[in-house]
Amino acid sequence: MTEREIRQVLHLTGVMPSRQLGQNFLTDAATARSIVDHLDLSEQDTVVEVGPGTGALTQHVVGRVKHVILVEFDSRLAAALKEKFSTRSDVEVIHQDAVEFDVRRLFAHRPVKFLGNLPYASGGAIMKNFLSVPHPFERAVIMLQKEVIDRLGAQPGHADYGLLSLRVQSAWHASIVMQVPPDVFYPMPQVDSSVALLIPRVDLPAFDRRLFDELLRRGFGQRRKQLHKLLPPCEDWKELTGKMGVPTTVRAEELDLAQWLTLTHHFDDHPLKEIPQKGSEIFDVVDEEDRVIGQATRAEIHAQKKRHRAVHILVFNKRKDLLLQLRSRWKDVHPSTWDSSAAGHLDSGEDYHACAVRELQEELGIEKENLVEIAKLEPCEATGWEFVMLYAVQYQGTLRYPCSEIDSVQWFPLEILEKWIQNSPTDFATGFLLCWDRFRQTISET
Ligand code: SAM
Repeated sequence: MTEREIRQVLHLTGVMPSRQLGQNFLTDAATARSIVDHLDLSEQDTVVEVGPGTGALTQHVVGRVKHVILVEFDSRLAAALKEKFSTRSDVEVIHQDAVEFDVRRLFAHRPVKFLGNLPYASGGAIMKNFLSVPHPFERAVIMLQKEVIDRLGAQPGHADYGLLSLRVQSAWHASIVMQVPPDVFYPMPQVDSSVALLIPRVDLPAFDRRLFDELLRRGFGQRRKQLHKLLPPCEDWKELTGKMGVPTTVRAEELDLAQWLTLTHHFDDHPLKEIPQKGSEIFDVVDEEDRVIGQATRAEIHAQKKRHRAVHILVFNKRKDLLLQLRSRWKDVHPSTWDSSAAGHLDSGEDYHACAVRELQEELGIEKENLVEIAKLEPCEATGWEFVMLYAVQYQGTLRYPCSEIDSVQWFPLEILEKWIQNSPTDFATGFLLCWDRFRQTISET
């Protein structure tokens, strides 16, 4: 859009560009087009654009993808966009503060990509809302003031390196793909802008994200202070820093991401942090009536498709949202898929209820005995030849899970989940899909 066209839209909508809303609109079509090209669009994509404004970026997206969701806080610009796209069923305009937007609904739209020439003032909060793990995005392209974008990809030894760099780099590969001067905006901002391309990382070892964040907050709370004075007590600090190849007096800003992950792993005291499963675990083998007929190792049971026993537990909060876990990349079956809140095999000699109580504790840190039995599922290919006892429980509290087994967890409203399962069933472990069907059937009968 040219500056003249933008002025015209602003005139017609009665919008006086607001500094608070970061209303600096792009006037150069070539710049807009090349920003959008970094999204690598395809026909199946859904694109979520935050702050579409007068539509400078939007016009290069609409018509090229399956669905476009525009989130605009300015009521007059949102109304103008609704009017402009009123005949298009593939464009949805949402008048809302993007900081408040419920990102969970986007899982149902996968593959989904994020786009935003973000307002300077709330850009950080918008990024936090949309791009924190777990998120549904395959790719994100964001424009912000150069100073902030520089921080995303910064490395130790650089003045821009800090908490934001590590938070972003622990989830995304961040690269700066463009510098944008002030003279391609109306009105002209006082600072330069840059564009970052973010692609989800799958190359890092498992780590406890909550602990990582807590250690970062402690370390960067007083970034000039020696790190060991800010972290929880650590008896083997000398050995640990020796392993990382840094002096004992090291400060937060001197450690790179790999060293922060080493530190996180060291402070993680979860007993299951190392490996997600052992092929040598022994389970009971059962017949078609679920009677124990022998024992075998986990590896044998899975390779030879022998019938065995497992539990799935669905945890609901007070709002009746269901907790799902994203299985870690290191699981031997169904890695990186969404699954029941907790699930696991019965140990040899264990009963279903005892196993459910144990799995809740081990996988989520929940101490609960009052589980409600929902149904028993017959063994089949989709359950991995398991008899599955399905339980439900209500819980509202902190969760603690082993990073080797679970990448992340999220509460999902049932209507969002319903739509997501319909649109992308392969995002879920097959055993969970059976449990979900049985759960739905049970609640519709009661
Ligand atoms: N995408 C347009 C462009 O490139 O010309 C406009 C970008 S302008 C830098 C930022 C846009 O974000 C404005 O349209 C502004 O009204 C909108 N905005 C500001 N705060 C917002 C918020 N919290 N949620 C959603 N949109 C917001």
